[in-house]
Amino acid sequence: MLLIIDEVQTGIGRTGKMFCYQHYGITPDVVTLAKALGGGLPIGAMIARKEIADTLGPGMHASTFGGGPVVCKAALAVLKAVQQEKLLLKARSMGEYLFKRLNDLKEKLPLIVEVRGMGLMAGVELDIDGKAVVQECLRKGLLINCTHERVLRLMPALNVSAKEVDKATGILYSVLKGVAK
Ligand SMILES: *Cc1c(COP(=O)(O)O)cnc(C)c1O
Repeated sequence: MLLIIDEVQTGIGRTGKMFCYQHYGITPDVVTLAKALGGGLPIGAMIARKEIADTLGPGMHASTFGGGPVVCKAALAVLKAVQQEKLLLKARSMGEYLFKRLNDLKEKLPLIVEVRGMGLMAGVELDIDGKAVVQECLRKGLLINCTHERVLRLMPALNVSAKEVDKATGILYSVLKGVAK
């Protein structure tokens, strides 16, 4: 049985380590990557332990956007930027700051049920539908989304600044305060 971990959203530093599984002391056999790997260009990748990779021959595992030379070059540039700009470290420290600010909001706003996540991947569970909150945040300049009806999802850029976190949480506070009224 193979342990296959989908790191499409959590990989490339999102949670403060290169891959989220590294927080758990486990070693997957296969990891899937996409999205952030291409820094905005379409790419998908499957990484496997050598034993497993060696069982795959050309044509056995295809992907439309898997291996184009332009996106592969873009992915290399992304990985280089993660290293050179110390984005794992930044995601960890800015992540801590973001969660501190979000937990401050939770103290003040009873409609926040829970703040959860890791690094720069945050979920804010509300006791109301989040759709109108997302729309109002967008109107005020904060782009977030809502999953499972009640969970606001915040995924800032890995090079986000403290000032931007302050601005974002400020907008979220004003919108949620308005809703609470
Ligand atoms: C987007 C997404 C996928 C699909 O990625 P593709 O590049 O469209 O194949 C898989 N898993 C997760 C968690 C995703 O967010």
